[in-house]
Amino acid sequence: MPVPSRIETLGVVGAGQMGAGIAQVAAVTGHRVVVYDVSLEMARQGIDKIGAQLARQVANGKMEASAREAALSRLVAADGVGALAEADLVIEAATEREDVKRRIFQQVCPVLRPDAILATNTSSISITRLASGTDRPERFLGIHFMNPVPVMKLVELVRGIATDDDVFETAKSFAAGLGKTLTVSEDFPGFIVNRVLVPMINEAIYTLHEGVGTIESIDASMRLGANHPMGPFQLADFIGLDTCLAIMQVLHDGLADSKYRPCPLLVKYVEAGWLGRKTGRGFYDYRVDPPKPTR
Ligand code: NAD
Repeated sequence: MPVPSRIETLGVVGAGQMGAGIAQVAAVTGHRVVVYDVSLEMARQGIDKIGAQLARQVANGKMEASAREAALSRLVAADGVGALAEADLVIEAATEREDVKRRIFQQVCPVLRPDAILATNTSSISITRLASGTDRPERFLGIHFMNPVPVMKLVELVRGIATDDDVFETAKSFAAGLGKTLTVSEDFPGFIVNRVLVPMINEAIYTLHEGVGTIESIDASMRLGANHPMGPFQLADFIGLDTCLAIMQVLHDGLADSKYRPCPLLVKYVEAGWLGRKTGRGFYDYRVDPPKPTR
């Protein structure tokens, strides 16, 4: 069966930080985008966030008001999974839990066109394993965007064992059309970026846990001493501590090496529901200005 050679309509599952970012970039570059979340309300909230984001760009002179209107007119909030039936490509960007993603694929696959491509934005879960839970492993791949999507230039493309070459090529030209630079990663836990980045964050949390430094001193050390634009705790709060923990668990399980053991302090923050910026509190408390370290 031929593969769509051009992606005109994109479906996005999950209208959180990443899904909304992907939908925004796709709408701005001329794609029609159907946004699906657990409810119509959640999908609408995601689109509202995009509207606010684009309004800031207009206010800063980075976008014409008419371009914002045009982008918003291309975004549709789905009132059920059936709205994804028209998509050439669906990118799943829901919570980083394998059971959640598997359940989504079971719901989504029956409504997709047979030729449609299905992708996941997972940060770490095996593409091959996720693909095996769908009806189209040869039309399934990883399209891994970075956070925040409108700002970060990279997209990591990850081929599952069964992914067809022409599916991979269509995904490449879609991502390039969004203005992104591509790298190709093999399907191993964490791919490239998170295999290197998240253990660094986990190590920073151990460094705090063992009393080697404070949140502020570790962040300052890495900003000024390693020339990182953000310290590891600022970055962890930005990514979401639940996502960081989920990635460490995938590395730990998938590579079976104790060096990937999630720091117990990270587990405690997640158990507390202190997930970073998105919940108002993580390693920093964002309810005060400037944000205050929580330890
Ligand atoms: P998030 O918590 O901001 O958003 C997740 C969204 O998924 C929420 O809106 C939630 O309602 C929705 N969702 C949950 N279950 C659903 C279901 N059954 N059907 C439809 N929607 C559902 O999370 P996020 O940071 O946007 O992460 C999403 C994905 O992107 C994860 O796989 C994550 O690993 C990946 N990712 C995250 C980052 C990052 O820095 N946060 C970077 C790259 C990739």
